[in-house]
Amino acid sequence: MSGLLIVTGASAGIGAATARMAGFSGWSRVVVHYNSDLNGANETAAMVESMGAQAYVIKADLTKPKQIEKMFEKIADLKPGPVGLVNNAGIVGKKASIAELTPDRVAGIFATNVLGAIEVARQSVLLMRTWGHGGSIVNVSSVAAKLGSAHEYIDYAASKGAMDTFTLGLADELAAEGIRVNAIRPGLIETAIHEKGGQPGRAERLGAGTPMGRAGTAEECAEAILWLLSERASYTTRSLLDVAGGR
Ligand code: NAD
Repeated sequence: MSGLLIVTGASAGIGAATARMAGFSGWSRVVVHYNSDLNGANETAAMVESMGAQAYVIKADLTKPKQIEKMFEKIADLKPGPVGLVNNAGIVGKKASIAELTPDRVAGIFATNVLGAIEVARQSVLLMRTWGHGGSIVNVSSVAAKLGSAHEYIDYAASKGAMDTFTLGLADELAAEGIRVNAIRPGLIETAIHEKGGQPGRAERLGAGTPMGRAGTAEECAEAILWLLSERASYTTRSLLDVAGGR
């Protein structure tokens, strides 16, 4: 699909891979959103531009609604066109069980993974309606939503469960406008998120025990995201697509 692709959390991991590969799916312009890793965002943007697409690097802390609003004010100044949203930014906490899930910790997880993501989706829908060229949304959930992640991070799993339900409802609200809304649910994917959560090597270690016997890659997630966004998935909405090697 030609048009403007907005990728949140595009400085690293699944978001960076999706932005880098967007040109293959015909996206001519990519918003490379980041929070703190400007170097990572610039690297992603350079890859986007090497594919012949235009990159716009925009910073926003998605736990701050005002910053999300400012980010979309900047995007609204760009040339109108079809809008794609990859609602990807997210965090995990340290390995923990119920006794350690303090209100502050849970609020932090939900602020990014749910409140931020819903506000980004809301602003994107407003933009799609203003520009009038339609669009498509892919939320990046997790198989944790169905597994529950006991003794690891059930707060994170619950936040992704919320995003699954949000995906279903938003798809129903927007179907008549021609805006498709789907989610991918990655399994164990080799990115830095595990190290940030205090468990380096987690994807490789646990990936070995999955039906496919390995962890997945950010690029394998990006392929699924870009397919769901594209016209090749024109009759697919309200779907939660597991990209999890059978897990
Ligand atoms: P990552 O840590 O490499 O990337 C996460 C991105 O989110 C980063 O770019 C980070 O800057 C951004 N981010 C975090 N907090 C933010 C905030 N407050 N404001 C703005 N941006 C913020 O991790 P990843 O593995 O690429 O994760 C991407 C998505 O995939 C997440 O939603 C994650 O929950 C989901 N996911 C990952 C896995 C996995 O195994 N890697 C599995 C299932 C789901």
